[in-house]
Amino acid sequence: MLVVMKNEATEEQVRAVIREIENLGYRGISIPGAERTAVCIIGNQGPVEDSHLLPLDGVKETIQVTKPYKLVSRETHLQSTIIAIGDVKIGGKDPVVMAGPCAVESAEQALTIAHLVKQYGAQVFRGGAFKPRTSPYSFQGLGEEGLKILEKVRKETGLLIVTEATDHTNIEVVEQYADIIQIGARNMQNYSLLCRAGHASKPILLKRGFAATIDEWLMAAEYIMSEGNTQVILCERGIRTFSDNTRNTLDISAILSVKELSHLPIVVDPSHASGRREYIIPLSKAAIAVGADGILVEVHHDPPHALSDGIQSLYPEQFAELIKEIGSLKDRV
Ligand code: PEP
Ligand code: MN
Repeated sequence: MLVVMKNEATEEQVRAVIREIENLGYRGISIPGAERTAVCIIGNQGPVEDSHLLPLDGVKETIQVTKPYKLVSRETHLQSTIIAIGDVKIGGKDPVVMAGPCAVESAEQALTIAHLVKQYGAQVFRGGAFKPRTSPYSFQGLGEEGLKILEKVRKETGLLIVTEATDHTNIEVVEQYADIIQIGARNMQNYSLLCRAGHASKPILLKRGFAATIDEWLMAAEYIMSEGNTQVILCERGIRTFSDNTRNTLDISAILSVKELSHLPIVVDPSHASGRREYIIPLSKAAIAVGADGILVEVHHDPPHALSDGIQSLYPEQFAELIKEIGSLKDRV
């Protein structure tokens, strides 16, 4: 249930509502909005009796929230959330572009790619230091050394950094270096990692598991938000289907479903969705055209020699073309 406060309600009145919710045995989380504050009740199994809450000072009305993901739901938060990191706004009017290699391989590689993607118009640099690889024999990433390289990238280029934490033992160090902490598809239901991410001081980019329904994905986001971190960016990266000509299947309609069900921003990763560099530009355009808040795309200056995912990595000139094509969609409806 959502307890909607009057426009003029004071902070003390909001606190009194939260205290009463706690007396009833639940938790109350204050959700400030542009015009008024609401308090979301969590921890209840069924409908909550509102007769103790409605008479409290400052309370306007109560609304039943039908979805199990309360904090993530658009029922709780009508306006779309914008996550602002420095000058970069994710979920705002303009789509954000996050680009870089699959993995940080060396300082030279990361800096070369970072300068190129910055020059062409990216705002965020992506690159894994801890890599969740399907094979234990594949390159696993440089670990903390990779994070230090990413710090250099930020310093030299001014780009924000998104990089992955693969478990609860490395999220702490990732948090120190990253501007956005990525949780990968394989970890979407790693609940100890999600809970730890809920205590992080940085926004979380939560990828959709490749066999996850939209509801399961939104519940994973709820884990993070219920622990206190409200800065969650969803990332559609393709799901497993019987289509066998692409690495995964980009679920374009997921963007529409997420926009309908949730206030959180959503970006699209066409690289892991398709596994094919020649599909990246059209898929990115499709994603932006239906309302995605940005893209996360793999770019490498020398894809044939990339240590991971070279086959789906754009050449820098293709990335420049992608930026041009996205620019022409800016006035999308
Ligand atoms: C990645 O973005 O580097 C990655 C490993 O992606 P995913 O978790 O979507 O497979
Ligand atoms: Mn990759």
